[in-house]
Amino acid sequence: MASALSDRLSRIVKEMRGQARITESNVTDMLREVRMALLEADVALPVVRDFIARVKEKALGQDVVGSLTPGQVLVSVVNRELAATMGDGVSDINLAAQPPAVILMAGLQGAGKTTTTAKLAKHLIEKRKKKVLTVSGDVYRPAAIEQLKTVTAQAGAEWFPSSPDQKPLDIARAALDYAKKHYVDVLLVDTAGRLAIDEALMREIQELHGALNPVETLFVVDAMQGQDAVNTAKAFKDALPLTGIILTKMDGDSRGGAALSVRQVTGAPIKFAGVSEKIDGLEVFDAERHAGRILG
Ligand code: GDP
Repeated sequence: MASALSDRLSRIVKEMRGQARITESNVTDMLREVRMALLEADVALPVVRDFIARVKEKALGQDVVGSLTPGQVLVSVVNRELAATMGDGVSDINLAAQPPAVILMAGLQGAGKTTTTAKLAKHLIEKRKKKVLTVSGDVYRPAAIEQLKTVTAQAGAEWFPSSPDQKPLDIARAALDYAKKHYVDVLLVDTAGRLAIDEALMREIQELHGALNPVETLFVVDAMQGQDAVNTAKAFKDALPLTGIILTKMDGDSRGGAALSVRQVTGAPIKFAGVSEKIDGLEVFDAERHAGRILG
């Protein structure tokens, strides 16, 4: 286990005590450690480079006051920049739409879309007092439709039936129609995922987006995906106007660098974190806490 970034920096800067400023000459070694810490946390390389450049710019010329060392000052600059990059205070779900507000769930297979759809349903019922309907557009995997039915029941939401012989677009339209007639506040649409990016699937979800006009298009991504999360995020961002990110499997032992990568690539806010397989394992994303986790 690598030691915490602050320890490593303090080792480097031992000889530097008494320097009053962070300068080009004393920052280089420290930034190398920051870079290592980010790479160890599985932040993607181009994202790391970009981030380091920003930190360097902010750190240079910072006064080192009182009992602080240059290392401590740099750690706080890094922390602040990480938290600011990952969080922008927009955390909850936007429901500012003529009901039913539609939420489209996007992501690779296995990312946790179906589980997260039910978690979100529970959240919206309990915290926002909404009437929630879920529907699955995953006509390729009958088991996925059944899975959504099961977890929706656990969430205490209503489930709209669909079957593999239907077209996703028809399912979505039927669900929307039902939602309107039954005064549903929020319609959560779970979609098919592939193990890798797939053009036909991207077209399908784009069509769904066009037909449903969702108020939220959420990209669900597995925090354990590490470096690959960047490519996945890019592909979904190019296909859809993402409005938010949900990072799943944060209870795993990854340092969660994917959060920084995905946030930077999509520009969309990270709204929630999945923290267990259970239906109540969804937390509002806390950027500051997560910054600390990434830095180790
Ligand atoms: P989908 O293919 O994207 O719909 O993914 P699923 O919802 O079926 O989830 C895939 C697996 O990940 C399942 O075994 C879930 O229980 C698990 N899972 C989803 N979210 C989390 C989470 O936040 N933490 C943990 N530990 N497991 C999760």
